[in-house]
Amino acid sequence: MMTRPIEARISLDALSKNLSRVRDFAPGSAVLSVIKADAYGHGLLPVASALSGSEGFALLELGEALKLRQAGYRQKIVLLEGFFSAAELPEISANEIDIVVHCKDQLDMLCSEALPKPVGVFLKFNSGMNRLGFDRKGFYAALERLRRSDNVSGIVLMTHFPAADLEAGITSEMSEMEAVLSGLSFPLSLANSASLIRYQETRTGWVRPGIMLYGASPFPDTSAAALGLTPAMTLSSRIIAVQDLKTGAGVGYGPMFRADRPMRVGVAACGYADGYPRHAPNGTPVLVGGKRSRTVGRVSMDMLYVDLSGIDHAGIGTEVVFWGEGLPAEEVAHACGTISYELFCARAPRVPVTYY
Ligand SMILES: *Cc1c(COP(=O)(O)O)cnc(C)c1O
Repeated sequence: MMTRPIEARISLDALSKNLSRVRDFAPGSAVLSVIKADAYGHGLLPVASALSGSEGFALLELGEALKLRQAGYRQKIVLLEGFFSAAELPEISANEIDIVVHCKDQLDMLCSEALPKPVGVFLKFNSGMNRLGFDRKGFYAALERLRRSDNVSGIVLMTHFPAADLEAGITSEMSEMEAVLSGLSFPLSLANSASLIRYQETRTGWVRPGIMLYGASPFPDTSAAALGLTPAMTLSSRIIAVQDLKTGAGVGYGPMFRADRPMRVGVAACGYADGYPRHAPNGTPVLVGGKRSRTVGRVSMDMLYVDLSGIDHAGIGTEVVFWGEGLPAEEVAHACGTISYELFCARAPRVPVTYY
């Protein structure tokens, strides 16, 4: 039986090549590969296997961390939001999982439990993002309590930058961080992808690359190819119907697109329930049978429309690539007013993944 033709093909080789690029940029750093959100939609266990040369993994859910331990990974595993209730701590400790500690509630819970084994802590400083982390005073107080606690086996000091990918950079946050670190001697964890690519001073201790491992650029002004990164995921489907539009005819829901001349339109089996953004405007780039074209009309739940003008060989069964090989996800994301991260994470469970 022929199945619905949509698929995400993921190159394991691209993932491991991108890990080598991380090492080119940050030689000597330990790599904590960020595989949160089902490895940015690429699949937790296959990605972990392709990146098994990493010194560690970072993600959010304890359940996912336990899957990695059960699969035999002995590396460091860090929970980026730490834990959410004291009830999680015994399992965290028994499985030697590291936790981010970002607030006093976590600190109180951690210091008042009797744990089977001490746990590794990434103590988070809020250097200006105002998302997670302690202010300067709270940070010193937390550090003192962690140093004295029998529940703590090691301490890494970390922060996260809000604009490492943008013009603003990390200047103000880095000077906050340097001020708080003065006189302290602990391993550090500072860099996401953008930061480790651009800022030498953050290539230290544990680096935390995410998006670059999946082969997309973190920067609006630099392509993945220019950074030597290889896209891992290609989302594709096929044309399942063709419509001949007369001048003035619309396609799909609402009046979003009308033909200004007679034209052929292909209906591709991919919609917002597959993870393609519904807010994609007319003109979002696609590849139809290997040729660049554009979307027209409003994306439906299960289908979208592509312009077949000038692609005479295209018909039912012709492949349509939405992003990946030959069409950078960043470019599609930009056209849709979002970032490649969101496209990848939105890949719906109903889209089958094949690894090669
Ligand atoms: C997601 C995340 C990263 C990875 O960021 P990229 O931009 O994908 O490299 C690093 N650190 C923290 C704290 C994160 O939440």
